[in-house]
Amino acid sequence: MDPFADTLWRLRETFRSGRTKGAEFRVSQLEALGRFLQEKKTLLQEALAKDLGKSPLESDIMEIIICQNEITLAIKNLPSWMKDEHVSTNLFTKLNSSFIRKEPLGLVLIISPWNYPIQLTLLPLVGALAAGNCVVLKPSEQSQSMEKVLAEVLPQYLDQNCFAVVRAGPQETQQLLENKFDHIFFTGSPHVGKLIMAAAAKHLTPVTLELGGKNPCYVDDDCDPQTVANRVVFFRYLNAGQTCVALDYVLCSRETQERLLPAMQSAITQFYGEDPKASPDLGRIINQKHFKRLQGLLRCGRVAIGGQSDETTLYIAPTVLVDVQETEPVMQEEIFGPILPLVTVRGLDEAVDFITRREKPLALYTFSNNSQVVDQMLAWTSSGSFAGNEGFTFLTLPSLPFGGVGQSGMGRYHGKFSFDTFSHFRTCMIAYPGLEKLHELRYPPYSQRKKNL
Ligand code: NAD
Repeated sequence: MDPFADTLWRLRETFRSGRTKGAEFRVSQLEALGRFLQEKKTLLQEALAKDLGKSPLESDIMEIIICQNEITLAIKNLPSWMKDEHVSTNLFTKLNSSFIRKEPLGLVLIISPWNYPIQLTLLPLVGALAAGNCVVLKPSEQSQSMEKVLAEVLPQYLDQNCFAVVRAGPQETQQLLENKFDHIFFTGSPHVGKLIMAAAAKHLTPVTLELGGKNPCYVDDDCDPQTVANRVVFFRYLNAGQTCVALDYVLCSRETQERLLPAMQSAITQFYGEDPKASPDLGRIINQKHFKRLQGLLRCGRVAIGGQSDETTLYIAPTVLVDVQETEPVMQEEIFGPILPLVTVRGLDEAVDFITRREKPLALYTFSNNSQVVDQMLAWTSSGSFAGNEGFTFLTLPSLPFGGVGQSGMGRYHGKFSFDTFSHFRTCMIAYPGLEKLHELRYPPYSQRKKNL
């Protein structure tokens, strides 16, 4: 017996009825989602604090406001996004109307991770609703408090004939995936991404995979160490390092490493105080399992800054490791925690070589006062996103696509890119029913007279 059959049947029937297709209905759902974020803000902040120790301000900026902005953008632009796109024609099709219609795909499944449990669940939802789909949402079971809010409160705001939240761990999600969907949007690890893609293949369901990996950060000798340290520390330790686009390791020369270390210590003290454990602005590790995994990584190389941890509060200090070997686990797996290894290289060429010998990352960062160094890194490498002298601020701009390449994922979203991801671009050509004399030219028999034309 499939426990999801009734829900999926209900949503499919609604989609078949055409209810979700009109702009008015889509806007009503987006507005309802906006009301949910507004009216339940405190509840959402509390859930984020419980699951991840996120401060209310960080929750607002990185989770709630980003979704509210996306909703506002989608509502404002929906008429133009939905509009048929008329295309140029050739001599033979001049009299026809040729255009692209953006159609909803049908019933879509969104599976999200625990690290930004609002943003990574609701941003794709905005795109799916704006595009007129029915949606099944599968939030992560690991961010338990947020899963509960999304499952119990969010459906009260949305039309339950078009939208459902499923609470499921890995095993139940596999069962859910035995069903046919019209698109699966997955955010999570590359390992599970492969399982999702394999399950989707059985139904020829297209997938968007937003995955993770190790994001390199090259720091050039020509830099102001304190400026770089401030930015690196901020973007590495935000959300206790549990960010898919966080810089995972730094490549720099030994001389730059020696200049960076005191600057990073100073930035950590300035941001989180003498005792970062007491800072309300430093998040906590999601659970015991990840805490233990990260404790293992602390044994790699040599601790230059931080290194303290407390299992009872799932606290790990902002940590910098040096003298790590490429073969150690901290350089083999995605860190996804407040630990940053520094790896020494002899300059840009060696850094490029180090990066391009590995899987294409989700994001790549370069810090240098010399714009040529930034340009060369951009030209010689590939990654989902690239930032020069900055962290992952790019993801706040809905005018930029967000997604991976190669091992870090496939497909893109944010802003109109989300709408397009959840739409089918239907090719349409409508001809006059008359003017048959003109059409006769193309029919056989292909006489000499026709060939001479
Ligand atoms: P995960 O892959 O373990 O889980 C993601 C989702 O998949 C969860 O909802 C989970 O319940 C489900 N899942 C887990 N095992 C499953 C299975 N066997 N079958 C079906 N579904 C299963 O990832 P996570 O630990 O929640 O998140 C961390 C990972 O996600 C990191 O690799 C990180 O880089 C990546 N991530 C990527 C992005 C991005 O935008 N590219 C954003 C956040 C996180």
